[in-house]
Amino acid sequence: MRGKLFVVSGPSGVGKNTLLNAIIDSCKTVQYSVSATSRPIRPGEVDGKSYYFVSRARFEELIANDALLEYAEYVGNYYGTPLQPIREAIENGVDVVMDVEVVGALKIKKRLPDDAVLVFVTAPSFDVIRKRLVHRGDVAPGLMEERLERARWECSQAVNYDYIVVNDDLTRASEDLRAIMLAEKCKTMERIHLIKEELSCSTPQ
Ligand code: ADP
Ligand code: 5GP
Repeated sequence: MRGKLFVVSGPSGVGKNTLLNAIIDSCKTVQYSVSATSRPIRPGEVDGKSYYFVSRARFEELIANDALLEYAEYVGNYYGTPLQPIREAIENGVDVVMDVEVVGALKIKKRLPDDAVLVFVTAPSFDVIRKRLVHRGDVAPGLMEERLERARWECSQAVNYDYIVVNDDLTRASEDLRAIMLAEKCKTMERIHLIKEELSCSTPQ
């Protein structure tokens, strides 16, 4: 079977990274898609693990070489998904979780409609999002309003997603995300090959 792409979006500070780390910790077979970005590295981030940190010129080369599944500009920086690891994962039946903003997520759904599942993460209120972002403490004060403005627009796009997870309590929100992933893997399209000939029967009289 092909691997699935679980594409997670949501306002900056809502808890996407925290949630995805919880999923990866509890399910070792799921692969995290490491994105490329032209934004500067933050304290605590690791090149090649958090992101591939590249210059704008290098990012534009990746675009020109068709090396990205999708890319978008977000608050002045490029972000994009390297195509090759995604191709390999899908073909090898490995499920992938990815943290992608709204424009990129919709591009993925358009390009790979049968493989991609879009999950929008939100919080109980906008005030909670603001507080989490301030508490995380790694967004420059000058960029905070821009991120919050973008967050408002992103929430208006949640209607285009397959699922919504409210990250109020982290444990419960991770359970919701895990349940979505499990349900997607149990869909008829994923499992019909398990119905062998001897199990199917002719129409009852
Ligand atoms: P994102 O990846 O969406 O930008 P993060 O995962 O970095 O967000 O989380 C932003 C901040 O919110 C972090 O300090 C994180 O510890 C905190 N956080 C995440 N989920 C919760 C939650 N359910 N309750 C309280 N704080 C949370
Ligand atoms: P941050 O700078 O906080 O790490 O991420 C900013 C935004 O970029 C987040 O909304 C995140 O979802 C998004 N993002 C991260 N990787 C990618 C990617 O590969 N493609 C796109 N389109 N967005 C991404």
